[in-house]
Amino acid sequence: MKKVKLIIILCSCVTAFVAQNTQREQWDPRSTEWYTPVPPKVQPGKLAGQPPSDAIILFDGKDLSKWESTRRVEGSNRREPVQWKIVNGELHIVPGTGDIRTKEYFGDCQLHIEFKLPPPDQEKGNSGVYLQSTYELQIYEGEPNTLYVNGMIGSMYKQSAPLANAYTKNGEWQVYDIFWKAPVFDGEGTLLSPAMITVTLNSIVIQNNYILKGDTPYRGLPAYTPHGRLPLLLQDHGSAVAFRNIWIRHL
Ligand code: MG
Repeated sequence: MKKVKLIIILCSCVTAFVAQNTQREQWDPRSTEWYTPVPPKVQPGKLAGQPPSDAIILFDGKDLSKWESTRRVEGSNRREPVQWKIVNGELHIVPGTGDIRTKEYFGDCQLHIEFKLPPPDQEKGNSGVYLQSTYELQIYEGEPNTLYVNGMIGSMYKQSAPLANAYTKNGEWQVYDIFWKAPVFDGEGTLLSPAMITVTLNSIVIQNNYILKGDTPYRGLPAYTPHGRLPLLLQDHGSAVAFRNIWIRHL
């Protein structure tokens, strides 16, 4: 009885395969080819990690004109200027001066950012890249890692441990390349599609199309709050982490 069933299944598979191919033979191949819209021409950077021609340069070692503090000027809606320091073309967190964010708002994007952790300090080189000011990709001393794995370097904080620990060591530049799909909400604030992220650390994939469950709180569970485009935010978590070569592309 089992043999008969197997033969029937095999026959129907073969029939379906033949039918599909016969049907495809009748198609004009030109009917499945299109020529518009033409993708824009983008010139890659000359060296790996250098910004392509259409990138928005957020920091190139010279100035912080693309950034502001998250702290408000008292009694005003304006933001304070950034108090982090540029040292030899590097952007250094001045612990205690607060987070910074871009003046421009972003949705789907590709982000390149390089960072360097100071010699071991009490905070273990803690910082974070907050996509849309809300979703933290962790920066933390990774060699050795002493933290829960869903909070270690390369984690989507308290949601997704990295697929690998690609951190080298303190004092060496680390490179994040981030591919971000923003969450989409309808007019009523209902989540239509969640956020999704792919990340490489030092060219090694550490988050592979991870679908986020919401924001990344220290306490409690992740949840979504409706929003549109928002600034990119870098966290002051009490460590003198340094950054360089930060660029972003709208997608
Ligand atoms: Mg952090």
